[in-house]
Amino acid sequence: MKIAVIGTGYVGLVTGVALAEIGHTVTCIDIDSDKVKTLNHGIPTIYEPGLGEMMQRNMQNARLFFTADYARGLDRARVVYLAVGTPERPDGSANLDYVRQAARDLAAHISHPLIVVIKSTVPVGTNYKIQRLINRLVPEDMRVTIASNPEFLREGSAIHDTFHGDRIVIGTDNPAAAEVLEEINRPFGLPILHTDICSSEMIKYASNAFLATKISFINEIANLCEKLGADVEEVAQGMGLDHRIGPDFLKAGIGYGGSCFPKDTHALVQLAGNHHHDFNLLKSVIEVNRQQQRLLLEKIENRLGGDLAGKRLAVLGLAFKPNTDDMRESPALVMVPELAKRGADLIAYDPIASGRAEQLLGQVAVFTNHVDEALREADCAVILTDWPDIRKMEPETYKRLMKHAIVFDGRNCYSPNEMRRAGIDYYSIGRPNRA
Ligand code: NAD
Repeated sequence: MKIAVIGTGYVGLVTGVALAEIGHTVTCIDIDSDKVKTLNHGIPTIYEPGLGEMMQRNMQNARLFFTADYARGLDRARVVYLAVGTPERPDGSANLDYVRQAARDLAAHISHPLIVVIKSTVPVGTNYKIQRLINRLVPEDMRVTIASNPEFLREGSAIHDTFHGDRIVIGTDNPAAAEVLEEINRPFGLPILHTDICSSEMIKYASNAFLATKISFINEIANLCEKLGADVEEVAQGMGLDHRIGPDFLKAGIGYGGSCFPKDTHALVQLAGNHHHDFNLLKSVIEVNRQQQRLLLEKIENRLGGDLAGKRLAVLGLAFKPNTDDMRESPALVMVPELAKRGADLIAYDPIASGRAEQLLGQVAVFTNHVDEALREADCAVILTDWPDIRKMEPETYKRLMKHAIVFDGRNCYSPNEMRRAGIDYYSIGRPNRA
């Protein structure tokens, strides 16, 4: 089927490549012409394992195209996916300016009736509003049908998730559109759930809010474990064996970040408030997440005698999670400036995101792609992202390179016993330092 995808960010690019891979002919449209140029050279504009090869293969097979020209992109497309950003506004609500603009751009170039699929995460009711917006701008015989198809991929494993996800949700009031979308998605071989539009929009927010709740819950348990001498890793294992709870998203640490959980939890609180519903549970989830970073800062300050001035601190990991170069809402964006404000001399390492991080934090820290360089002569190391190379590092490496082997681990990468045996003063989240 001929499909257009508007927006070639993390979601749009992966969606376009995956739809081409299962046999559709896909044209991805983006207003950023530099991005389009890079993509047309076969170079992915984001770091995502497996994406480059799949993208190049489908370009070579003439199933995948990139353009900044809406008329070309929409030419003979039967379905168009909208996958532009919905970032957070200062009040926490979702900013729909990009979605509206893309809808207007789309309406200006429609030459035949289409099914418009909104993949962006949008507040409940937005699909109807976008359908009305487009249909007001186009002649009667070119009216579009709308469908909600929220995206559940995780950055860092986006390609894997697209082909092995738990479900595909299709929300539409139009049975013919539901059938077309079922046909498009069938080759993925995943369970497909058909719902009404509002429920589909809500499924996305409810899922992210629930996952964020699991993370904040285990972080609160971790904070309590520290006070009571229990080990949160053992507690999480014991909880996760109960199939009603499940083992995923019970990893204590410095809290969640990224382009989705923070903005989607804020947007749901806002959405609830707009409808006179005080979502207290979710407000606490957000507050606990904020508190995790403050607690780690306090621990570092207390251990270093309250004064970080002139201390050389190695920050390991900057991306909001491993296997991505995405820095949006990464804990590093809070931790690095806060440590710098306290006078620390910072050298920060990330295997992939150092360049992006430098653009955002270049005023307050020095950046490197080499972990050894970060650790050399450091007074203290702070781990913010559990990249595999950081996890695999031998405890002796800290001992050998650092001036003082003091390690604060915001991701529980190592066994406290092994670190202690290697002579490292080691602090993690929710685990006692037993002798
Ligand atoms: P992104 O910021 O990475 O990409 C958005 C892209 O849209 C950019 O390339 C931008 O140039 C392009 N764009 C903006 N306006 C346009 C227009 N009028 N016409 C054509 N292109 C335009 O965003 P993302 O991370 O891919 O997120 C997209 C949506 O998917 C958001 O609603 C997000 O909440 C949701 N989502 C994201 C993820 C994730 O992991 N990133 C996962 C699930 C859902």
